[in-house]
Amino acid sequence: MPSHSTPWSPQLLNGYLATVSPVEWAYERLRSIYDDTKYQRAVATNTIPQWILEAEREAASLELSLVAAGGAIYDEFLKSQPTERDIRATVESPEGCVVLLDGLSLREIPEILRRAAETPGCSLTRVTWTLSAAPSETMAFRQQRLRMGGANITQLAVPMGQLGVTYRRHRSQTDILQPVSPTDRKVFVWSEFPDSTFGNDSAKNFGHFTTTIVPGLRQVWNNVVMRLGNRRVVITSDHGYLLQDRSADASLGPELWEVCPAWNPSRSDQDTFRKRFNQIFGGSRFVDRHLTAEELAEIPDQRIIKAFDRDGQPCTAVLGRFFWRAGGSAFDHDGLSLMECILPWIELEFA
Ligand SMILES: [Zn+2]
Repeated sequence: MPSHSTPWSPQLLNGYLATVSPVEWAYERLRSIYDDTKYQRAVATNTIPQWILEAEREAASLELSLVAAGGAIYDEFLKSQPTERDIRATVESPEGCVVLLDGLSLREIPEILRRAAETPGCSLTRVTWTLSAAPSETMAFRQQRLRMGGANITQLAVPMGQLGVTYRRHRSQTDILQPVSPTDRKVFVWSEFPDSTFGNDSAKNFGHFTTTIVPGLRQVWNNVVMRLGNRRVVITSDHGYLLQDRSADASLGPELWEVCPAWNPSRSDQDTFRKRFNQIFGGSRFVDRHLTAEELAEIPDQRIIKAFDRDGQPCTAVLGRFFWRAGGSAFDHDGLSLMECILPWIELEFA
């Protein structure tokens, strides 16, 4: 176990193993980590950076225990979305109004709940979870969950139109949504925020959450959600993200040597290993093939990767929050982890 994290007790892990729905269990743990009351206090005292750091470390500790315990929960991420939170079925329903925020994670739920509580006429019907595609990225989500192909989200207007859905692509948190007629009852808004900000310079460290994500959510609330008029709205996402800031004051994820305490390589071996992982995975957390026997032999702990097939396409993804890259964005996704794969599903009603 890494020195900075608290191990999860056997009782908690047994709770997970005995539960009927491991994802439900993990979702509830994560909601108690990214806690609404603590978030409210952090907003009131200007301590959101401390709130997010503390939560990330707790989430990393939970994930480390799950990977070390054999990673059974990660099989769940390859299954269907829960039937009544299936995005395709929602799009096709007669009154389906969805605001999909690209890259929204469970971390952002407390801020959305704050917006809802402060908005007259807005009532919260349900807060729960749904699942990303595997791997946790936009194109896989569009193919596997929305079941709409095409090169990118600009081309979703056509298949959406065929289903009678008014489609809006919303590029920036500062843009105002083009008006949607009250008689259009099937609406789908694809907000490119927050994912559109993950490549910003400020996203090189976790401070981006406070300086950009939180204020951006408030803008999306005003510029998009509040402009949809009186209707039921589902706010959800296509994939979440990991915070992998490895600066001295953050250090938010485990290195492989922390997942596998028996394997304790020297500094130079760590560097060699990182280089090799970069060769296999490039800048990503998955590859669209199975690894060769030679590559597999070089992975010192098999628990950190998962091979699977999606729609006949072979994939290998990195499990959990383990990371190996230096530098780059602190906001990363397309692997299989709790925060990448378990997504917010928030139902609201505006009267
Ligand atoms: Zn995305």
